[in-house]
Amino acid sequence: MENPRRVPILIVSGFLGSGKTTLVSHLLGEARREGVRMAVISNEFGELGIDAALLGGAGADYVEIEGGCVCCELSDELIETLEMLRARVDPDRIVIETSGVALPHDTQLHLWREPVSGWRGEDLVLVVVNAEQVQAGRELCGTFEDQVSSADLLVLNKIDLVSEAALPAIEARVREFEPDAPILRCVRGEFDPALLFLPEPGRIPERSRAERAARPHGHEAFEAEEIRVPDGLEPEALLARIRALAPLRAKGFVRTTRGLEVLQGVAERLELSSAGPALPEAHVGRVVLIRRVPSG
Ligand SMILES: [Zn+2]
Repeated sequence: MENPRRVPILIVSGFLGSGKTTLVSHLLGEARREGVRMAVISNEFGELGIDAALLGGAGADYVEIEGGCVCCELSDELIETLEMLRARVDPDRIVIETSGVALPHDTQLHLWREPVSGWRGEDLVLVVVNAEQVQAGRELCGTFEDQVSSADLLVLNKIDLVSEAALPAIEARVREFEPDAPILRCVRGEFDPALLFLPEPGRIPERSRAERAARPHGHEAFEAEEIRVPDGLEPEALLARIRALAPLRAKGFVRTTRGLEVLQGVAERLELSSAGPALPEAHVGRVVLIRRVPSG
């Protein structure tokens, strides 16, 4: 049987006013600039959707699901919309922007349903947190807690609205809900998409460390690196070896003692799963790592 192209899916969650829509708009702008086909499903009812001007008119790659929540009552519609986008747009990546009340983990579970499970690539939950809301201690329970605790990556947004000295305490507060997920600081939702959608081996953009570090202040800088992994390692030994390099993200194809596997994940949460059969042999043993560029 043919091995379908795997499409990574990013779930963007966050409380009302966290800046999700701005972040998704920014990702969409970057994707268009890079010539990457990114489809967006927005379930952000009750708020203004993505800026129509950025979309350059209504595109087939942007769908709003309204009248309910995709994590529960409209989950069938979510599956149908994903299938429709794949058939009509054939996107390289998909972003699902959930409403302020949706539970990201529940949304993620729907991606494991047929037929989406047959072509879905890595799925990641990014939760946008309003730094100012955390500092003020507003509504830090219930939905907020559920969202933050199911994050693979946390984006602390609007850090320009709080003092730099307050950031450690704000992050410590967030850590009470989610001890593991990396926390990334950000202003106005400007975020490096390379951290969310990893480049293929051999296709890491040629951008120097200095160039990346020179990005606007408040925008953390990341660098991509490719490493070689020998065949035939024990899975646990391989994972330990990658974790020792402390990547924020890792992705690649490796041949362990169990056979051909996909290595992927966020920070400490790296995992190996069985790879499809139709894999280019040239990709095996190559792992792309994304790391923070130290500031200063
Ligand atoms: Zn729901």
